[in-house]
Amino acid sequence: MSYRLNPVYARLPVTVFERMSQLARVHDAVNLGQGFPDDAGPEPVRRKAAEAVLDGWNQYPPMMGLPELRAAASRHYQRWQGVSLDPEREVMVTSGATEALAASLLALVEPGDEVVLFEPIYDAYLPLALRAGATPRFVKLTPPDWRLDENAIRAVVGPRTKAVLFNNPLNPTGTVFTRDDLETLGRALAGSDAVVIADEVWEHVIFDGREHVSTLAAPSLADRTIKIGSAGKMFSMTGWKVGLVCARPELLSAVGKAHQFLTFTTPPSLQAAVAYGLDTQDDWIHGMRAALEAKRDRFSAGLRDAGLKPLPTGGAYFVNVDLGPLGVDDDLSFCERLVTEGGVAAIPVSSFYAEDPVRTVVRFCFAKDDAKLDEAARRISAFLDRRRPQAREK
Ligand code: PMP
Ligand code: GLN
Repeated sequence: MSYRLNPVYARLPVTVFERMSQLARVHDAVNLGQGFPDDAGPEPVRRKAAEAVLDGWNQYPPMMGLPELRAAASRHYQRWQGVSLDPEREVMVTSGATEALAASLLALVEPGDEVVLFEPIYDAYLPLALRAGATPRFVKLTPPDWRLDENAIRAVVGPRTKAVLFNNPLNPTGTVFTRDDLETLGRALAGSDAVVIADEVWEHVIFDGREHVSTLAAPSLADRTIKIGSAGKMFSMTGWKVGLVCARPELLSAVGKAHQFLTFTTPPSLQAAVAYGLDTQDDWIHGMRAALEAKRDRFSAGLRDAGLKPLPTGGAYFVNVDLGPLGVDDDLSFCERLVTEGGVAAIPVSSFYAEDPVRTVVRFCFAKDDAKLDEAARRISAFLDRRRPQAREK
């Protein structure tokens, strides 16, 4: 027989993150590709999860999430972002932000609807939007600032626009959008019925004293926002897959209907531990920011010593480098050579584009032990020296 598979997934390769991690293992490379920290996360939170497994309830928790986690999320977002949320009607727990994204798109989109995506796009967005039946409309953000342009957004928003996927801080560029950017988005969407699916998983990973302004805290956007957070990013434990979804009751209830047949629930032990963490780990979060900021600066200095110019990073634990000045015009083959010959894994930023990609930029994850960052910078320098000996001798 021939398998008649859904073409959206049948045509997709395995994700670039998985592929680069695999190559890193085979070639014993320093893995600065897939974004996951070396830090183990706050110990009291990990202990809570362990205790909850041993002593607690390991059966299905409520479909919308443990009440104590929804209440803790409401307190946490009030304290950190000034948003008021009714824990019973405006907060839901999912199995990671990825499930929240899928549930939001499935709850909103009908075939023929349009979904606006900003490029560079986080890799899950386009396949999920297509599988939900959406026609994608792209808005390209451009370096070095990657700011939102009202006219460019207006140009793709119309009566068929169901949703806008908006990632702030933005993976892979590290851009932190400001209150002004959110007002720009609000003006561009005024008069439309578009819902903003606001992927704020990097909300706590921001540097240099910046403030994360939630889309739910922007008056012009709050009523049309589905805010998505991820405990995996908040507490540097990416394997935990505990997502938080916040929206007005009518919107949240629709997303809940999709969630109930995607995963239905999320392990109660992890939910209980995240609830504890949201209430008690503010100092740890401040410490994480300071530690990551120091790592960003350390690794950026190493890149500069290797002759590269890192692009600015305001949030998320990634630093990007434009290799155009070195004559690189195919970031994917550069990354393949860097991991196989140079012993460092990175992510080609072209994989964050659907059409007409930027092909000169690569992304490095700096949430790693200092010794690894130093070794990676040394290896990158040696790789570049081997690659262009004449140019580097000048
Ligand atoms: N959105 C963005 C922008 C991300 O960078 C990531 C993970 N790095 C996710 C969603 C997925 O989060 P989770 O692991 O909670 O599903
Ligand atoms: N979001 C992570 C990153 O940007 C990867 C997640 C994944 O591997 N799916 O590196």
